[in-house]
Amino acid sequence: PALAARIAAGEVIARPVSVVKELIENALDAGARQVQVEVRGGGLALIRVSDDGVGIPPQELPLACQRHATSKLLGDDLAQIRTLGFRGEALPSIAAVAELTMVSAADDSGIGRRLTLHDSTIVVDEPAPRPRGTTVTVRRLFQNVPARLAAAGRPQAEVALISQTVRRLALAAPHARMTLKVDERQVLQTSGSGDRATALIELYGPPLAGRLRPLGPIEVAGASISGLISDPEVTRPARDQVHIIVNGRWAQPRGLLATLEAAYRPLLPRGRHPLLILVIETEPDQVDVNIHPSKLEVRLLEEQAIARAVGELIRTVLGREPRSLRL
Ligand code: ADP
Ligand code: MG
Repeated sequence: PALAARIAAGEVIARPVSVVKELIENALDAGARQVQVEVRGGGLALIRVSDDGVGIPPQELPLACQRHATSKLLGDDLAQIRTLGFRGEALPSIAAVAELTMVSAADDSGIGRRLTLHDSTIVVDEPAPRPRGTTVTVRRLFQNVPARLAAAGRPQAEVALISQTVRRLALAAPHARMTLKVDERQVLQTSGSGDRATALIELYGPPLAGRLRPLGPIEVAGASISGLISDPEVTRPARDQVHIIVNGRWAQPRGLLATLEAAYRPLLPRGRHPLLILVIETEPDQVDVNIHPSKLEVRLLEEQAIARAVGELIRTVLGREPRSLRL
């Protein structure tokens, strides 16, 4: 069973960033307002995510990390998914490829339960002081899966991916105060203000202040769409600061991304991309999130109509003179 679990884990936990993503998503699903992320050695030595969410009741803790168990899918209605997780795969998959310690408390007694698993087996089980919330610590990731250990990049490369993922999740959940510490150094921090412009400035730097233009809000095919795009002179050489968030989930709907790019490209210097965030809220049955275990492949039923409207919006907003010139 240990070997089978390790093989199954490959689907969900391909590299350190996969652990970070799953743990932050769990914290957000638990309603956390504060999420602290810490990594050492590119995530291979240690990954720790602490939250102040609802916590896991002590009697449920062993189940949550040992078995495909989810508290999130009510009934079997995949179309109604509102939470980020729903497969119950992440924690058992992590337990199969790392040393996993969970400390969680689900009430205000000040006492929770600590479990440590080695190779999916509980080796420590004891009461532990902790306020309501959960801390998950993952050590020695992939030490028992040489192929995956070898596939992990240099620590800096893993840290770059982890930072990118923390940024994405922080933008998807602007109400959560998020911090990322890398090898004892704080590298990212959001205030949890709830405001996406503020979050963008916190994540990408103060020079952005006053240089973001609102997109929308507009209504298309039953979806409410709003966002922000940077002034044409604030561009980047890479695409990875173009963010689309669908029902609270950071996503990459390909057709929509291509349309956005086609709309801004003629209005920006060659090869440059804006800072862009697009927030789409729609009925859950308009979104298919169940395509791949990593859940990035979100498909929107009305993607074409939405893409057309957003492309138009970007052309209008970017084509406008910057505020400073109009004054
Ligand atoms: P999923 O998120 O798909 O349900 P996971 O394996 O990620 O599966 O988590 C299993 C279960 O453990 C969750 O459904 C939830 O009940 C519980 N859980 C995990 N992490 C947390 C957390 N940080 N706070 C509260 N509950 C959690
Ligand atoms: Mg999960």
